Parts: sequence; C-alpha cells; structure tokens
Amino acid sequence: MSDVSDIKLKQIWEEALLDIKDAVGEGSFKTWISKLDIIGIDDIVLKLAAPSNFIRDNVLSRFADKIIQIMNSYGCQIRAISIDVYDKTTASISEDNTEANKINTREYQDISILDKRFTFKNFVVGKPNEFAYAAAIRVSESETPAFNPLFLYGGVGLGKTHLMHAIAWNTNHHFPKKKVIYLSAEKFMYLFIKSLRFKNAISFKEMFRTVDVLMIDDVQFIGGKDTTQEEFFHTFNELVDNNKQIILSADKSPSDLGGVEDRLKSRLGWGLVADIHPTTYELRLGILQAKSKQYKAEVPDNVLEFLAAKITSNIRELEGSLNRIVAHSTLVGRCITLDVAHEVLRDILRANEKVITIDIIQKKVCEYYGVKFSDLISARRHKAVTMARQIAMYLCKILTTKSLPDIGKSFGGKDHSTVIHAVKKVKDLITRDQSFSADLEILTKSLQN
Ligand code: ADP
Ligand code: MG
Repeated sequence: MSDVSDIKLKQIWEEALLDIKDAVGEGSFKTWISKLDIIGIDDIVLKLAAPSNFIRDNVLSRFADKIIQIMNSYGCQIRAISIDVYDKTTASISEDNTEANKINTREYQDISILDKRFTFKNFVVGKPNEFAYAAAIRVSESETPAFNPLFLYGGVGLGKTHLMHAIAWNTNHHFPKKKVIYLSAEKFMYLFIKSLRFKNAISFKEMFRTVDVLMIDDVQFIGGKDTTQEEFFHTFNELVDNNKQIILSADKSPSDLGGVEDRLKSRLGWGLVADIHPTTYELRLGILQAKSKQYKAEVPDNVLEFLAAKITSNIRELEGSLNRIVAHSTLVGRCITLDVAHEVLRDILRANEKVITIDIIQKKVCEYYGVKFSDLISARRHKAVTMARQIAMYLCKILTTKSLPDIGKSFGGKDHSTVIHAVKKVKDLITRDQSFSADLEILTKSLQN
C-alpha cells in the first residue's frame, strides 16, 4: 500500500465510504463517518482526522473494525486506526463577520460547506442538463435576482447538488460581498426545530434575514412537516420581498411535491423551474472522459464506452464505477481492460441490467401488433393472434431465463411443446423474411432499452 499516491488513496477511501454507509446505516454514517477525513496510511495504521474528540472516540469504539475490514477489502492491509482531532476549517464562503455569523453556534458550523469539486468548470453539459446549467450560470452572474426562485429538479444523482454548489462558488467569485447560504432542507428543519426548543428562534430568523442568496437542497423533505413549511414560507416571502435570490432543488417539480401546502407549491413555481433529465449515452461518455482525465488515469476508450452504455442509473453510480476500476487497477497493478471492468463491477452491472419479464414482453407484443391480451393468452387461432403469440413466446425464450413449461403456463396454460414449436417457427421466419426480422429487431431493442 505504501506506494499508493494520496490521490489514489483518496479514491479508495471515497469508494470504501459507500460500503461503510451500507454497513452502518445512513444515520450513523451522517453523524460519525461523514465527518472524517483521510490523512494517509502509515504501515498498518490508517490515519484519519475528526473535528472533535467526541467523534473520534465514537468512531474508534463503534466503527473501527468495520472500517478496517472494508478498507482491507480494497486491498489495504490495515490493522489499526488512529484519529487526529483538528479544528475543522470549513470552506464556508461567506465572510464570517456578519451579524448572523457572530451568533454562530455549533449547529450553524456546517452550513455552507461546499465541495471544491462541484464547480461549473467540472460540470459536463449535455442535452439533459443544458437548460438547468444555463439557468444556474445566469443566477450566479446576475446582480439582482434573475428569476425568483430558481427551482432545479431531477432524479437522484443527476447533478442538482453539484449545480447548487457551483452557483455558490460562482456567486462568490463575481460578488464576493454577497452572503450565500447553502443548506439541505433537512438541516433547515433541524435548525428550526432546535431554535424553537431552545427559544432562540430570533437567531435562526436573523441568520436567514441577512442573506443575499439562500439555497436549500432537497426541499421534498419539507413535505408533511407543517410548522417547518410555515416558517419556510415566511422566510421565503420575506427574502423575495427584499429582492434576495432563492434557489431550491428537489427530486420533483413543485406541483408534484407531496405533503406540501398548495399555496407554497404554487409560490415555488413562480420563478423559473428547470428540470434535469435522465442522462443520455453521450453525456455519460462525456462525464467519464472528463473524470478519467481529472484522475490522470489511463482508461481505454472501449472501457469508457462500455461503462457509458451499461451504467445508466445515474451519474453518482457512473462516477463510483470509474473510481472503483481505477482504484482496483492501482492496487493490483493491472492495466484497465474490459475484462477488469466486468470483473470489478459485477454487482453494479447486474443491478443496472434491465430485467425483462414475461409480463413486459406480452404487454409490448400486444401493443406492437395491436392484439388484445386476452386473445394472446387464449387458444384462438386467428392468424394475426397466432403470429403475435408465437413471437411473444420466442421473445420470452431468448430474453428471460424462464423454462419452456413456465413460458407455456403464462400463455393460458399451454404445453411446452407449443412453445418449442413457436420458437422454431419464428427462427425460421427470421432467416427467410428480411422485413419480419428487421421488425422483430426493433421490437427486441425496445424491450431492452
Ligand atoms: P443530486 O444532487 O442530483 O442527487 P449530485 O449533484 O450529488 O446529484 O451529483 C452526483 C455526482 O455526480 C456528483 O459527484 C457530481 O459531481 C456528479 N455529476 C452530476 N452531474 C454531473 C455533470 N453534468 N458533470 C460532471 N459531474 C456530474
Ligand atoms: Mg443532492
């Protein structure tokens, strides 16, 4: 391990963190593990840093074994962990001399901690995110609010948080005097509830009143929390009235947010609503190329293309897969090849595979050939119906792992010999009839994508 560079170790650590999160659960991870930084490895000792003695002691007593075990599964040979305690220097981008920051209690410390990697420069733009990107650039370069609020929404791992951090960095660059606050909706709720309990709601209000740009991430978590919504609504209106920029993100559009009052929903949609669409192959490939360049890793094109084609769930997983391959090849000292990618990503690839079931095939075939489902599974011998049924049986045979008797059963209790006959018939047609075969290929592709 000793020849592993800091960058690689960091990559391994980031990869291991995902496993640690799975092992200890989201709550413990957030409270303890996410606060740790990696310093390095000294022989058999993994050296970490924590912001307090409290965190250090808890991690050592409760999670050390797990961390060692998981790091070793990445090829490290660690026997012990040591944790230094340091003063966490945050990347808080607001000047720390405003009124609100003077009331800085422990709780407010990790507001506005921004990830240094989440900049516009590192954001790869493609069709699915170009609109959200343009809107984000615009709000961060406008003196006064461009649209209020800017509401970014899209599925998990598609770059909402990245764009928000980038807005914060860029605002700070163009308008260093502006006070920017970025926090998650969960944190907002936590602070609010805490301020009620300790009767310091004033400092809570004060904190938000002095802000120029307020960004709240993942506002879907406000759904169902009535008092927090109320407070949020007031804060929101006050800031908008005072011409302050608000930027929000969620996994749904304002009108689809569950458990949110109607007046708030409609208010959230007043500004600009920009959605981030699921990724395309081109965007995924672009991101992989950019990241491998960042890592200075030699990843062959065919491996990048393979990942872009196979890991379609989201960008977080795409990045994670690349990290894992790079970390693995560094540790075992092997070049990155398609075989290595297959081997290292076996579990992820399986999860990204689309599971095609008999139901799905039957539904699609009915749609495609305009046949009723009840006819498809009946004994009717009408020519068009028979044809569709045979095609559906054939597709079940080649696209699922079901046995012939199982397939027969799903078509109204037919015998396995009927299925064999259907498969033969279709195979025969494929070789004889070009337009039939082209048609079938389209159908097959549409089932696979
Ligand atoms: P979300 O907040 O939508 O769940 P994140 O912003 O956390 O997603 O993005 C997940 C990961 O993917 C982050 O590491 C982020 O840097 C990366 N990412 C997302 N979109 C892009 C992009 N367009 N270009 C480069 N990296 C991206
Ligand atoms: Mg996010």
